[in-house]
Amino acid sequence: MQEIDGLPELTQSDLTRYSRHIILPNVGLIGQKKLKNSKVCLVGAGALSSPIALYLGAAGVGTIGVIDFDEVDETNLQRQVIHTTKNIGKSKTTSIKEGILNINPNVNVITFNTKITSQNAFDILKNFDIIVDCTDNFPTRYLVNDACVMLKKPNVYGSIFRFEGQASVFNSVNGACYRCIFPTPPPPNSVPSCGEGGVFGVLPGVIGSIQATEVIKIILGEDKNTLVDRLLLYDALKMSFKEFKVKKDEHCPVCGQNPTITELIDYENFCGIKKTENFDIKDISTKELKILIDSGKKINLIDVREVNESNIAGLENVIKIPLNQLGYNIGKIDESLLTVVICKVGTRSKYAIMLLKESGFRGELLNLDGGILAWINEIDNSMSKY
Ligand code: ZN
Repeated sequence: MQEIDGLPELTQSDLTRYSRHIILPNVGLIGQKKLKNSKVCLVGAGALSSPIALYLGAAGVGTIGVIDFDEVDETNLQRQVIHTTKNIGKSKTTSIKEGILNINPNVNVITFNTKITSQNAFDILKNFDIIVDCTDNFPTRYLVNDACVMLKKPNVYGSIFRFEGQASVFNSVNGACYRCIFPTPPPPNSVPSCGEGGVFGVLPGVIGSIQATEVIKIILGEDKNTLVDRLLLYDALKMSFKEFKVKKDEHCPVCGQNPTITELIDYENFCGIKKTENFDIKDISTKELKILIDSGKKINLIDVREVNESNIAGLENVIKIPLNQLGYNIGKIDESLLTVVICKVGTRSKYAIMLLKESGFRGELLNLDGGILAWINEIDNSMSKY
């Protein structure tokens, strides 16, 4: 039943259930109706989706879609808190639906017990207002990003690895997309999965709650201060949040002025790195690196960003080796010197260090914490911002 404002009516039960929302000035009756009218799709039904589904369901989001093809496994339960021990062996979509309905039986939960692919992505996602990237792998992350750009839908992004997480809002109010920051996927075999690298159980609770917050703000129209054009980095061990400004890249391969990617691509053959137990990655802060460079000590600075990115802003005297070419160019790096690996935000450089160690590189390796964006933000404010 719809009222004059085109939004669904709230029942007496709704008024009671959402009363603490309705009295908030930024929500009110209209806001609660907007939530009831909204359709949000979660890509993935695992760690990030768990808190997101619980909070969106509790908040009264009217329709929640969930895409996943996996089954609940005992190893999931340490972090995927919507799934229960009794649901081991059940499909994750069935289990997450149960979890949402336990909290709020009024939510219309639509499950897609399938793998999202270039073939079905448009058909599924076109029916939703907001897409939430809760994926745990790069092929799906790029697919979701590209589909959101092409369908003109906001993409609320989160990712987690070990003790660190990231969040942002892509492709909303003319903001950057994921490819504006990370233009191309990392090479196959360069990226460990959570299964191989491990993940701190409470981490998705933090990042997923941030994603849920942003989804609700977008629905309410409180979108002036979302994570659009801001990349949030969270380090649970240091209990620190960092934030970097990003902006829409006019040369972005998918959302730029002359896009080269105009249809969806399935990236396959992304297998995790096999051995990760010895991969103790040490960071160097921007301040420590500045001191090191100023001291005149000879070091290797390896920039693993794509060439079009590393031409925008960077450090002097770097060796540019894009991540997907690192495997063929390890011989260019002098193992006798300390090597600092650099990328845009300090994530790809970690993969590069893992790849170097996996390849038998014996020199000392440090990761520039926060990447070039941290350098620009904290050291060299004269450089043009991304
Ligand atoms: Zn873009």
